[in-house]
Amino acid sequence: MGLSLTTQQAKDIKLLARFTQVWCSGHRHQGRTAFPLPGSIRPVQLCATCAAFMNYAVTKRINCPLETEKPSCKHCRIHCYAVEQRALVKQIMAWSGRRMIMRGRLDYLWHYFF
Ligand SMILES: [Zn+2]
Repeated sequence: MGLSLTTQQAKDIKLLARFTQVWCSGHRHQGRTAFPLPGSIRPVQLCATCAAFMNYAVTKRINCPLETEKPSCKHCRIHCYAVEQRALVKQIMAWSGRRMIMRGRLDYLWHYFF
């Protein structure tokens, strides 16, 4: 994807991709392959199911209608995700967030956005 992202879009997508990768490998999902990300973000390793979710999440983030006033997805007044994906992203962020913190990645603590 030769798409150029805003700094905030790149930050959010990168974070979400990292968390999804931790979730996917932590749950030992089978058949993980490189999932390409837009802009200059390095690809992450995801199974087919997580790749489908990530594709959804990237599309949603890129098409965010509140780009200019955006505080964070967690505090968004729209919540553009469908029920199923929203439940999944909350699970991913909470599970992977705990794991990151156990590994001493306290910097991620401030970035919970679901
Ligand atoms: Zn997976």
